[in-house]
Amino acid sequence: TIDTTTHQRPADKLGQIGVTAKSVIAVGSGKGGVGKSTMAAAIAFGLHNAGCKVGLMDADVYGPSVPHLLGVNERPTAVNQRLQPIERSGLRVMSMGFMVPAEEAVVWRGPMLHGAVTQMLRDTDWGDLDYLIIDMPPGTGDIALTLSQLIPLTGAVVVCTPQDVALLDAVKAINMFRKVKIPLLGVVENMSSFICPGCSERHDIFGTGGAKRKAEAMDVPFLGDAPINVDLRKRGDDGQMAGLYDDPAIAAPLMEITRGMV
Ligand code: ADP
Repeated sequence: TIDTTTHQRPADKLGQIGVTAKSVIAVGSGKGGVGKSTMAAAIAFGLHNAGCKVGLMDADVYGPSVPHLLGVNERPTAVNQRLQPIERSGLRVMSMGFMVPAEEAVVWRGPMLHGAVTQMLRDTDWGDLDYLIIDMPPGTGDIALTLSQLIPLTGAVVVCTPQDVALLDAVKAINMFRKVKIPLLGVVENMSSFICPGCSERHDIFGTGGAKRKAEAMDVPFLGDAPINVDLRKRGDDGQMAGLYDDPAIAAPLMEITRGMV
């Protein structure tokens, strides 16, 4: 069982493991496929564009997608037994995906995974960071819960889509972070609408506004929403997330979300 009464202050814990970051922010979700990794990368680049030193750690042990999203094919090297994060357009990136071959399913048991993630955090030479953004495993199962407690988090962002079922999962994620006493920085509604590139009409494919209402009801800040955007999906598929903010249509909603965090 997890002791939720002794949540050590993040700065103390960070110091103990040799990581110097002013804030360590988890990006979580109630379930997979809602765009958690996409939003984690977007937030990381957004904060970098705002002039901050940012690391992005992909702790999504089930499907580490950050290397793919950012088009990182190389593997980190070690200097003096410390892993050197991969530099991508100013971000310092580490991923569970660097540790296991892409096609191989992760079949480790929970404790091994917890160990691997915390070791990756500790053994990486992050340098001085303003923000370390952590792409968490989706869901609220044992792995996500335990990692939320093991990683010295300053706060958490929950990503969800506007559908009712997705919102139920988001509520579970909010409650999970509350259980381990991690402050909620806010909720992001992803895939909130679709603006037709042909007729400019807005279509609320999965509904809209649900996450905002739910966030208000739960007394959690609402950071903003990101519409379904085909170019954003293509960027992810092509490993071109680094240039995300060059596209004004994609950048505008994402900047709004990031603004709520700095
Ligand atoms: P998760 O980390 O929650 O599993 P991903 O970030 O991997 O989700 O996103 C799942 C898929 O949805 C990816 O193909 C991604 O490119 C796409 N996607 C995410 N957000 C959007 C969006 N706002 N518009 C279009 N496609 C999106």
